[in-house]
Amino acid sequence: MGSITLKQVTKAFGPKEVIPPLDLDIHDGEFVVFVGPSGCGKSTLLRLIAGLEDVTSGSIVIDGKEATDAAPAKRGLAMVFQSYALYPHMSVRKNIAFPLKMAKLSQAEIDAKVENAARILNLADYIDRRPGQLSGGQRQRVAIGRAIVREPAAFLFDEPLSNLDAALRVTMRQEISELHQSLATTMIYVTHDQVEAMTMADKIVVLHDGYIEQVGAPLELYERPRNMFVAGFIGSPK
Ligand code: ADP
Ligand code: MG
Repeated sequence: MGSITLKQVTKAFGPKEVIPPLDLDIHDGEFVVFVGPSGCGKSTLLRLIAGLEDVTSGSIVIDGKEATDAAPAKRGLAMVFQSYALYPHMSVRKNIAFPLKMAKLSQAEIDAKVENAARILNLADYIDRRPGQLSGGQRQRVAIGRAIVREPAAFLFDEPLSNLDAALRVTMRQEISELHQSLATTMIYVTHDQVEAMTMADKIVVLHDGYIEQVGAPLELYERPRNMFVAGFIGSPK
């Protein structure tokens, strides 16, 4: 569970081609980071995978199944946004339970899954508070909790830490890496922060104007950047 293949995927907004034909293989359980400067298409690529945008051409296969035209909810993926996207009028517990209520699970199943997520993320102390009463890091944990209860084949993160201060970013980075280790679920993580990419990724995808400059393990990109763009963005110029 959690393999994603993009074949000749393109995306245009009107006359503007934002993603030229792109091929990418993401393997089950991998932590893949999309990195590149602002406007290079990281969010668009993630949204295409999530089904929040339609591809202009090409295909997306998730766990061996054609998913190009599948509705977002049918893809078995869970997205975590930079803005948290929590419901302000609901408690933490209700925010996390919400996708399960939508899926019409029994109250007992919902309670068990919410409790499990609260334990994993250490948020039992503020489970009855509303988002407005939480710090940024706590809100981000709730947003991750809401993804965890859905038991997705893959988590998709779009710059989840960029609203947090530097010290908290380091803590949350570690928490997300630990979560990846314990769940062993595929994670795709978008960032423009090279340090995040280098410390978190199994595989880094370097994007530039919508195309892939290089794909590889952090050390491989650092030691053998294919060109000056990758070198400048990831490692030391050679
Ligand atoms: P990144 O996340 O790497 O900063 P984006 O994927 O948000 O980049 O954007 C890539 C390019 O696509 C940018 O030039 C952006 O202006 C354009 N773009 C993104 N979404 C839309 C949209 N809905 N309509 C038109 N252009 C868009
Ligand atoms: Mg973006």
